Amino acid sequence: MTSLLEAYQEVVGPQVVQELLVVAARVRHRSMQHINSTAVGGGVAEILTRLLPLLADIGVRATWDVIRGDQRFFEVTKAIHNALHGKGPPLTPEMWEVYQAATRANLEQVQLKGDVIFVHDPQPAGLVEARERIGRQWVWRCHIDVSTPDESTWGFLRPLVELYDAAIFSMPEFAQSLSIPQYLVAPSIDPLSDKNRELDAGTVSATLDRHGIDAGRPVLTQISRFDRLKDPLGVIAAYRLVKQRHDCQLVLAGGGAADDPEGEQTLEEVRARAADDPDIHVILLPPLSDLEINALVRGSTIVFQKSLKEGFGLTVSEALWKGKPVIGGAVGGIRIQVLNGVTGYLVHSPEGAANRALELLRNPALCRRMGENGHEHVKQNFLLTRQLKDYLLLMLALEHPGERLIRLP
Ligand code: UDP
Repeated sequence: MTSLLEAYQEVVGPQVVQELLVVAARVRHRSMQHINSTAVGGGVAEILTRLLPLLADIGVRATWDVIRGDQRFFEVTKAIHNALHGKGPPLTPEMWEVYQAATRANLEQVQLKGDVIFVHDPQPAGLVEARERIGRQWVWRCHIDVSTPDESTWGFLRPLVELYDAAIFSMPEFAQSLSIPQYLVAPSIDPLSDKNRELDAGTVSATLDRHGIDAGRPVLTQISRFDRLKDPLGVIAAYRLVKQRHDCQLVLAGGGAADDPEGEQTLEEVRARAADDPDIHVILLPPLSDLEINALVRGSTIVFQKSLKEGFGLTVSEALWKGKPVIGGAVGGIRIQVLNGVTGYLVHSPEGAANRALELLRNPALCRRMGENGHEHVKQNFLLTRQLKDYLLLMLALEHPGERLIRLP
């Protein structure tokens, strides 16, 4: 066994790793190719960065390609993203033409070499047009909450999705009425990554110091790309309500993603709203700030993820893993991570978020208990090894279409 697998075994136990090896032995004669639209920033890149080395370690050949596009293409795909979340104007035929032109350009650029091609989210979804020419098996991996999409936008995308062999959604509520098989796979975090591994207290306090955050006073934190759907302004509103009744500081830390053109404007709005409050720390993170994020979360009392729409929200599991109670918007995948009253609280408004934050700030023992519950919940459900097993089982299922029972040795 490689040292990497031994390290995972330390965290998840020998049975999980043994199961991975058994399934890997059945699927490793076929290669996997992942395709998405950004190498850094956002949850998809985060997962792929960690998944690829682990796949290599269990002997499954896997590659990862990133499509290209100009500013206009990413404006269009962001509009598609928002509309699929049910939060934005519908796509116009002109926008659809921009999308199709970029797809044609990428079909010339990206080498489609995997036996099973996993295409992530709407941006590269059109590549499946190559299927008729080159064959292979194609899986559309959707990370978005498409439970209430703008119907006309979904109407553009759906015929493409139905060209795939299968679709994966993050939770049952996102499944669609489609002519192809659908699988459910929740995303995951890597306990060994710099973002999640244990840190010594010195690193945590040095990070807080560097940002002028007082470790002796409560810290409320949200780590997120500056995106309106993450509701950073709602978090500031909640903080202001808490502050009237309990001392605290607020950290809003995040960067952008290469495929998100709206980030800068949202950051401006956040800075304007934070104004000159010395207890609000708006931190613009460069890409690959994993240790910094790890330390900021570990130095926090409570973590927010007050999204208005969310596919999954890796930041929630990242915080729970570190034993922090999470106050999350009651949307999308946050609802399977924040078990209300057990690992944190689900909220519907800044007022709700503020009330729950106050409750937690006044009860450190409750914070601790929820943190322990959260760590265990993530260990059982949202670690990378579980997601890897799901993907390998999917590879197996794709080789045995229609079979209800596949025997492993
Ligand atoms: N993240 C990061 N830097 C940032 C903001 C976020 O590395 O400036 C990470 C965050 O820790 C998480 C991922 O990016 O691992 C975001 O995934 P999530 O599912 O929470 O949201 P998405 O950005 O995909 O909507």
